[in-house]
Amino acid sequence: MAREFENCLQCNKKLVGRDDQKYCDLKCKNEYHRKNKTNLEEAQERIIKILKRNQQVLKDVLGEKNSMSIDMDKLIAQGLTMTT
Ligand SMILES: [Zn+2]
Repeated sequence: MAREFENCLQCNKKLVGRDDQKYCDLKCKNEYHRKNKTNLEEAQERIIKILKRNQQVLKDVLGEKNSMSIDMDKLIAQGLTMTT
């Protein structure tokens, strides 16, 4: 199988090693993906992080209960986030 990329996609250094290699090391791979992340991907990651944190707050507050009434202010004080 022919090599798909002759040079690292991040630093352009000549690649040696596996034929399917795209980056010379993990540092270049991470930097390449960080630079090429779109605004949409960044927004999605930020929203997912908020949703996961909110889920944890609700789990902590609910404990073993299936439902309960609680003031929104108390949830926000526990770390619940309502905006991005
Ligand atoms: Zn590189």
